[in-house]
Amino acid sequence: MASSAAQLSKWDRRYVWHPFTQMQEWEREEPLIIEKAKGPYLYDTRGNKYLDGTSSVWVNLHGHRHPAIDRAIREQLTKVAHSTLLGAAGPPSIMLARKLVNVAPKGLTRVFYSDDGSTAVEVALKMAVQYWQQQRPPQQQKTEFIRLDAAYHGDTVGSMSVGGVSLFHERFRPLLFSTIALNAPYCYRCPLNLRFPSCNAACLDPLEDVLSKRHRHVAGVIIEPMVQAVAGMMTQPPGYLSRVRELCTTYHVLLIADEVATGFGRTGKMFACRHENVTPDLLCVAKGLTGGYLPLAATLTTETIYEAFLGEQAEGRTFFHGHSYTGNALACAAALANLDIFKKENTLANVKKKARLLQQLLKPLESLPIVGDIRQCGLMAGIELVKNKETREPFPLADRIGHQAAMECRRQGLLMRPIGNVLILVPPLITSEPELRRMVKIITKSCLTLCRTAVQG
Ligand SMILES: *Cc1c(COP(=O)(O)O)cnc(C)c1O
Repeated sequence: MASSAAQLSKWDRRYVWHPFTQMQEWEREEPLIIEKAKGPYLYDTRGNKYLDGTSSVWVNLHGHRHPAIDRAIREQLTKVAHSTLLGAAGPPSIMLARKLVNVAPKGLTRVFYSDDGSTAVEVALKMAVQYWQQQRPPQQQKTEFIRLDAAYHGDTVGSMSVGGVSLFHERFRPLLFSTIALNAPYCYRCPLNLRFPSCNAACLDPLEDVLSKRHRHVAGVIIEPMVQAVAGMMTQPPGYLSRVRELCTTYHVLLIADEVATGFGRTGKMFACRHENVTPDLLCVAKGLTGGYLPLAATLTTETIYEAFLGEQAEGRTFFHGHSYTGNALACAAALANLDIFKKENTLANVKKKARLLQQLLKPLESLPIVGDIRQCGLMAGIELVKNKETREPFPLADRIGHQAAMECRRQGLLMRPIGNVLILVPPLITSEPELRRMVKIITKSCLTLCRTAVQG
């Protein structure tokens, strides 16, 4: 028997510690408890219905309770839920690896499974370092990583090390290995005070500079291709990613593409790297891999890197890494069904169409006094709210303007999760045109409400 909403609310606050959440505040408020969902809608225990404006934090693609994914999981349950990939294989993980290689950028031919975005990144970092150690002659000194400011690659110690979100990472700095950080292409607040395209992507000059000096020590460059999502949907100018690829090739360092957020159609292509015809040396995927159903991740790599790990046992070239649930059968079955839907429902073409519509819908928001910048790539959009439109002065974080806007949206039936002063809209790919219109209408209304209070206050 299901417990009552009031009971659940009490027990949540009594027993559960929520991620990225100030629990003192949480305990004071009535928690939102989602008990079911369908398509792009979520339903709470009080019978309220919400549009899922975050795709349940960027994981859901084809909607909740998609019949094909539901069915695939049920069918797999009649066989086996999980068996280990250590010393054994399983049909779903085999089939999925083959399918992933088929849809991935050309040249990525090997699939290493793990459980979430953070572990997919850990795997890539470790593979990169060990790869260089196993060159003939060995290049033990290639252990450094180059990353961008405001980068986000996960919350485990290795993935935090290549991250640059000070609010999350700074206090753990003593635990983290050091990295070489470069300016991110934040065009709205260009660190070099230049403008694209006349700037010629000058923010990339330091990459060439540091590579030319330190490439003998650099294992790889890690990047979120096309969009740094957690940074506030920071979009990269055209040519940026392909230039990074070019420089990595020239200076013999590996390119690690973290497509945990951008993968699987989110940007209008299967992978964001495809926008610039780039093949990374290592590709990390997670979030959308199972269509938002189950935790599963993968690190894809090239035949060249894979072969560097081959040898007799005694040579010690084995990649000693793995997790208990690596290649979980239920998750792989969900992922297979998830990928099948792309063809059956013509998902990528639909995303392109809807992304154009979303761009048109968001355009009028530019005229609002608190909207500074709108950034979008496919069906991921960020609306940066500013205190002063002319000077681009940000709202103090303590004002929690993004949070206020999100709460306004929730009252009108749209669930949002802002990042600082940036409102983030990441709708499920199946969101219909009328539903997209409704989402933007709610966001507009919420911003207007805030304009009034922000002006008064
Ligand atoms: C979410 C995210 C991660 C971390 O994934 P988890 O599954 O939360 O560990 C890593 N990289 C990017 C780009 C992400 O958006």
